[in-house]
Amino acid sequence: MPNTNCLFCKIAKKEVPADIIFENDSVTAFKDIRPSAPIHILIVPKEHIQSIAHLEGNHRDILAALIYTAKDLAEKQGLKGYKLVFNVGQEGGQVIDHLHLHLLGGWSKKSDIEAMPHPSLDK
Ligand code: AMP
Ligand code: ZN
Repeated sequence: MPNTNCLFCKIAKKEVPADIIFENDSVTAFKDIRPSAPIHILIVPKEHIQSIAHLEGNHRDILAALIYTAKDLAEKQGLKGYKLVFNVGQEGGQVIDHLHLHLLGGWSKKSDIEAMPHPSLDK
C-alpha cells in the first residue's frame, strides 16, 4: 500500500532528492545521508513495506532483491567484507518506517576492523 507521507517512498519516486546509485523495477539504492561507515548505502523496496516484521508471504521476491542488490553493490564497490543490517521497529533502532537494508563497509583502519562489531552501529 503506498504511503504518501513516507520519506523513502518519496525518494523511490524521485519526489525527494537522494544520491541514488542503483534502481530497478523493485528496489532503489541510495547513499545514507548520515553515514555510519565509509560506505553506507540503503537499499529499499519500491513498494511501501513498514519493516521486516510486516513482511507477508508475497514479499519473498522483494526481500531476495534487497539482499542480491546489496551483494552486487558490495562487489561493485570492491568491498571484501561488509555488514548487512535491518533495524526492526523502534526498539530495534528503526527510525524510518519503510523497510531498508543497510549496506555498511569500507573500513580500512586495522583498529576499526579489530573493534568489530563496529561501535557506531550500537545506537
Ligand atoms: P534506521 O535507523 O534503520 O531507520 O535508518 C534510517 C537511516 O536513514 C539512517 O541511517 C539515516 O541516516 C538515513 N536517512 C534519513 N534521511 C535520509 C535521507 N533523506 N537520505 C538518505 N538517508 C537518510
Ligand atoms: Zn514508504
